[in-house]
Amino acid sequence: MDTKIILTEKEIPTSWYNIQADLPEPLPPLLHPGTKEPTILPPPLFASALNEQEFSKERYIEIPDEVLEIYKLWRPTPLFRAHRLEKALGTPAHIYYKYEGVSPAGSHKLNTAVAQAYYNKKEGIKRLTTETGAGQWGSALSMGCQFIGLELKVYMVRVSYDQKPYRRILMETWGATCVPSPSEDTEIGRKILAEDPNSTGSLGIAISEAIEDAIGRDDSHYSLGSVVNHVLLHQTVVGQEAMKQLEKADAYPDIIIGCIGGGSNFAGVYLPFVKDKITGKKPDLRIINVEPQACPTVTKGPYTWDFGDVAGMAPIALMNTLGHTFVPPPVHAGGLRYHGMAPIICHLAKLGFVEAQAVYQIPTFEAAVKFARTEGILPAPEPAHAIKVVIDEAIKCKESGEKKNILLALSGHGHFDLGAYDQYLSGKLEDYEYPEEKVKEALKQLPQVPA
Ligand SMILES: *Cc1c(COP(=O)(O)O)cnc(C)c1O
Repeated sequence: MDTKIILTEKEIPTSWYNIQADLPEPLPPLLHPGTKEPTILPPPLFASALNEQEFSKERYIEIPDEVLEIYKLWRPTPLFRAHRLEKALGTPAHIYYKYEGVSPAGSHKLNTAVAQAYYNKKEGIKRLTTETGAGQWGSALSMGCQFIGLELKVYMVRVSYDQKPYRRILMETWGATCVPSPSEDTEIGRKILAEDPNSTGSLGIAISEAIEDAIGRDDSHYSLGSVVNHVLLHQTVVGQEAMKQLEKADAYPDIIIGCIGGGSNFAGVYLPFVKDKITGKKPDLRIINVEPQACPTVTKGPYTWDFGDVAGMAPIALMNTLGHTFVPPPVHAGGLRYHGMAPIICHLAKLGFVEAQAVYQIPTFEAAVKFARTEGILPAPEPAHAIKVVIDEAIKCKESGEKKNILLALSGHGHFDLGAYDQYLSGKLEDYEYPEEKVKEALKQLPQVPA
């Protein structure tokens, strides 16, 4: 059995797969933050092509040639069989991982970054604004904008800006401007800094700043790295490749495991497989969304209407949420510190097609180190959460003797997260309990939505 299953350039999928064509119940609408009426994504912020994709019911949406040409720099990405990890665990399970860390930006995020830059440029936009957590999204969009020919301003969550200066340098190298959020550059940023000059920031705050900036300028649109439907759509190039690769290995997953921050990398892997679960082709497929205990959106957050951002300027979505004013503890997986979750994932969870688990930070790093020592790749802290659950499931297989196929979504490498590894290796890493009281407070501020 091969270690690495690779595809040729010709086998890169030529369309994205749109789950909305196959959902047994349609997605609930987005609501306008003011009127609470069904709405589209605010047109002053988003290219119309992306708005169309957001609500499209077309099963396959063609990937533009210019985007495909750029994808060829790193796609198709490899699918590995984790022989050495399996052996170290003594498990009869077959563990596969789809690795997006081979992209120049080091994660899956470039898949949507290039596409979004392309559609905005095509509609005459000159500049994008965005937020970034750990810096992966900001760096991916920096490269996307550089390749397509757009300016970019990035609001980076303060805790990551301080912990991860190299991501900022990467953004600047690719030509973007990057400021820590909350910043003095926007009204909402100044307001939050006035209340708490030491605010560590959050994705929600950074989103509000980037939106405010883009609304204020005609030449600018805003860009989101996760959560919304069109981003998940662009990521399905990953899952479609993985499916082809597993076919070559004559395997179909019994369990698919990935981490969820806003949900894009993992949904990108599993949406093409969920289709098989919905249609009854593979009814017993398990799909496990893994999140941090410090920000357990799907496992602990109610399924209810909430704003996508802290300031309440973004549309209201029906999703699992910890409350839009919730600021999670500063776990190292900056990409998993968002109060809400992709409505597609929450909808699938509610319909019973996918499940969720929350894990602590220390066992997560323990799993990441085990992975690095057996498979070589040093995972980003985000997918390390999923590796923890992969190992748990592989050990269950050892106990029961079941030879399950496990597919891991390995969304990126952790070469910019070595500070976090250093803390773990020197025994200084902390675990954060679920901040129940803070969530309770935040949930008091949910918007009132008429039934
Ligand atoms: C951003 C990021 C995540 C979390 O975002 P999703 O939209 O949930 O995928 C996970 N892994 C990596 C490597 C990331 O960069």
